[in-house]
Amino acid sequence: MLRRAWFPLLAVLLGVPRAVATQPIDLSTQRMVDLTHPLNAQTIYWPTSPTTFQLERLSYGQTEGGYFYSANAFCSPEHGGTHLDAPIHFSADGISAERIPLENLVAPAVVIDVTAQADRDADYRLTREDVLAWEARHGRIEAGTMVLLRTGWSRRWPDRRAYLGDDTPGDASNLHFPSFGDDAARLLVEERGAAALGVDVASIDYGQSRDFLVHRIAAARNVPGLENLTNLDALPPRGAVVIALPAKIEGGSGGPLRAIALVPRG
Ligand SMILES: [Zn+2]
Repeated sequence: MLRRAWFPLLAVLLGVPRAVATQPIDLSTQRMVDLTHPLNAQTIYWPTSPTTFQLERLSYGQTEGGYFYSANAFCSPEHGGTHLDAPIHFSADGISAERIPLENLVAPAVVIDVTAQADRDADYRLTREDVLAWEARHGRIEAGTMVLLRTGWSRRWPDRRAYLGDDTPGDASNLHFPSFGDDAARLLVEERGAAALGVDVASIDYGQSRDFLVHRIAAARNVPGLENLTNLDALPPRGAVVIALPAKIEGGSGGPLRAIALVPRG
């Protein structure tokens, strides 16, 4: 232990970057998985969103100086596509996007698979019993773990009607998709100390939710949400590390997110 404790100091003295010396990202033993949908004209937003993703070309082509130059301006509501829900989204006392500790956004992840239940019932909600059954098989979920719920819904992207259950503009009352349930969220957030809740549907509450209780349970403990994730089928039940870094919008209630996973090979 003494040797281990001294190693970072030694690394600093020798001029070796600490992160490299003590925690290498070894791509011979890990592969990277992109958990992010692209931002484009098809990107799905909540039905009541006033606008969607807009990209405006500012420059594209050869300049008078003889070199090529391109640049765009983009405009987007915070909550669309693969994105972050900051705690202030559903809690007046919750922290905003730029204040979320990196420990909540870069963390070991577990994946709970409810694709079978969701295929039978589009309104399926993860139960407390589902989480306990997962733990009986894979071990207890430690504090500081990101809990990702895999419903299989991302294969419906970007078909709005199939993904949300309804594509009526401005109307969010007829949505049908699975997600976390209240009791499971309480267990994960309040008893297990989850770092974040993530899901491959549009919301950490299911489509028919009227009270957004899962959002409120998570926000009350300053636990962020990660929504519209994809490729969760490429992750093991445990063993992946997820890096989910949102745009650092000061005062933001959320924002676009680039999420990836490091998954052990083999
Ligand atoms: Zn959101």
